[in-house]
Amino acid sequence: MPRPILATVHPEALSHNLQQARLRAPDARVWAVVKANAYGHGIERVFDALRGADGFALLDLAEAQRLRALDWRGPILLLEGVFEPRDLELCSRLHLWHAVHCEEQIDWLAAHKTQQPHRVFLKLNSGMNRLGFRPDAFRAAWARLNALPQVDEIALMTHFSDADGPRGIAHQVAVFEAATADLPGERTLCNSAAILRHAHSPLRGEGVSTLAADWVREGIALYGSAPDYPEHSAADWDLQPTLTLSSRVIGVQHLQPGDTVGYGSTFTAEVPMRIGVVACGYADGYPRHAPTGTPVLVAGVRTRLHRCWWRVCARALSGGSAWT
Ligand SMILES: *Cc1c(COP(=O)(O)O)cnc(C)c1O
Repeated sequence: MPRPILATVHPEALSHNLQQARLRAPDARVWAVVKANAYGHGIERVFDALRGADGFALLDLAEAQRLRALDWRGPILLLEGVFEPRDLELCSRLHLWHAVHCEEQIDWLAAHKTQQPHRVFLKLNSGMNRLGFRPDAFRAAWARLNALPQVDEIALMTHFSDADGPRGIAHQVAVFEAATADLPGERTLCNSAAILRHAHSPLRGEGVSTLAADWVREGIALYGSAPDYPEHSAADWDLQPTLTLSSRVIGVQHLQPGDTVGYGSTFTAEVPMRIGVVACGYADGYPRHAPTGTPVLVAGVRTRLHRCWWRVCARALSGGSAWT
């Protein structure tokens, strides 16, 4: 018998969460951000539910190939662009759009032989300091790309570091506006947190008036997680969880005050209590750092987890019979 542990993906929740981006950014097209493996769900498992997106944004060329194999003919965007020159051949063949975030990627394009001019998303580092051209190098990069016969359209992209928190986005929006003001091309700025919290903020630039701009890039919210928890919960944003991990209680222990549980005795019972031991642990991908207190449903009743390193123990809240 296989181990009694199961991850269930909920397609209707994925479609619902995609719809939330549409409601908040009705004039923009929506990238369903897959990053890698659809935030752990698996691209094949989410694909049908996310077909209503305008495009898929991901990191891995092999995953882009899998999407084409699923017969997705719409836009695919490589968020980090290509990793070596020959990746550009695959971009030409599969019609992949790709980010350009550094000079080297422009050099590769300039040397690339193709009949198919590429659509690229030029990335501005407006303050996140991960990928992208600094504002003072952005226009020169745009001009270089614009002069290449290998490129036919240049969209403008940036990524927010603090759309989910008190620092906000204004400082990055100002940098983006200054760097792109009179440049043509589509614009995309918003990740999940910006879609939920800032999509209607004004944006100055060609053909756009709000931050939602031409494309929004919905990632974590698509999978039902509130990016600004605990300020807002998933329910506050009308997001639905897209994955349920379920298993069975395979052991029960009766603890007396002072008894401890697990490696390092990291949990100590203060009152008599009964704990259940669940067939689930980090061998199953369950995060080792998930803290004591993580909620769990036992036979539909909410209680909390105690982490004991190689098993996950569900324990009744106060030694009562909450989960029998
Ligand atoms: C991950 C990522 C997104 C989606 O971000 P979420 O915060 O998960 O919505 C959007 N754009 C880029 C460039 C990303 O790397």
